[in-house]
Amino acid sequence: ALEIHNVRKDFGSERVLKDVSISIDSGEFLILVGPSGCGKSTLMNAIAGLEPVTSGSICIDGEDVTWRTPAERDIAMVFQSYALYPSMTVRQNISFGLEMRKVPKPERQAAVERVADLLQITHLLERKPSQLSGGQRQRVAMGRALAREPKVYLFDEPLSNLDAKLRVDMRTEIKKLHQRLGTTIVYVTHDQVEAMTLADCIAVMRDGHILQLGSPDEVYNNPVDMFVAGFMGSPS
Ligand code: ATP
Ligand code: MG
Repeated sequence: ALEIHNVRKDFGSERVLKDVSISIDSGEFLILVGPSGCGKSTLMNAIAGLEPVTSGSICIDGEDVTWRTPAERDIAMVFQSYALYPSMTVRQNISFGLEMRKVPKPERQAAVERVADLLQITHLLERKPSQLSGGQRQRVAMGRALAREPKVYLFDEPLSNLDAKLRVDMRTEIKKLHQRLGTTIVYVTHDQVEAMTLADCIAVMRDGHILQLGSPDEVYNNPVDMFVAGFMGSPS
């Protein structure tokens, strides 16, 4: 399970996360939605351990990881800015996380082939990130996360740079992958269709708060307020 308890995050005098609490079971697919600047990426960074929280706690499978480094959390993350290692090839970028975890070379190669095939980037494996388009880079970033099988995946708008066709294909692949692996996923998107089709539960965020946490059906059909209704496009 992933348990976020009263997480607060201040940047200087600005309170960006205001006592955020979310609990999901292991294997659940949580979608996080909300307007730009409401704190979604800040929350993802807090779960990943990239930014220390001001107060509150984060537990993964019963272990308090609040003060652990990102590497100690068994999490794989795709950033909104999908930072790749510029000096490494696509193959090395995907393989790197496995190498750090001392996965043997034949297994690393097999994992690279598997995700490259899934993401349709096999022909790009020997290139450097600077030689790729934005959408291709995004798929490499996704590949880097998917090469591993961590306890939790964190995806921050992982499909935002893809064309419509690839987006739908990738959405289907992510859904299949989740059904196959049963890994806990937290996924940020601005796409309503993505939210409704992928989520086991949806958290609607505004101004550093969680306004509602529920199944897609609950959030869509029984929004707690006008804001959630408007945001989810609920029937009035
Ligand atoms: P978007 O949908 O545009 O990605 P978001 O919900 O992910 O938005 P965040 O990136 O979490 O929003 O930012 C939330 C607020 O925190 C914003 O007001 C932002 O300016 C502020 N913020 C984020 N990172 C920092 C930082 N390192 N220092 C100061 N303020 C920050
Ligand atoms: Mg963001």
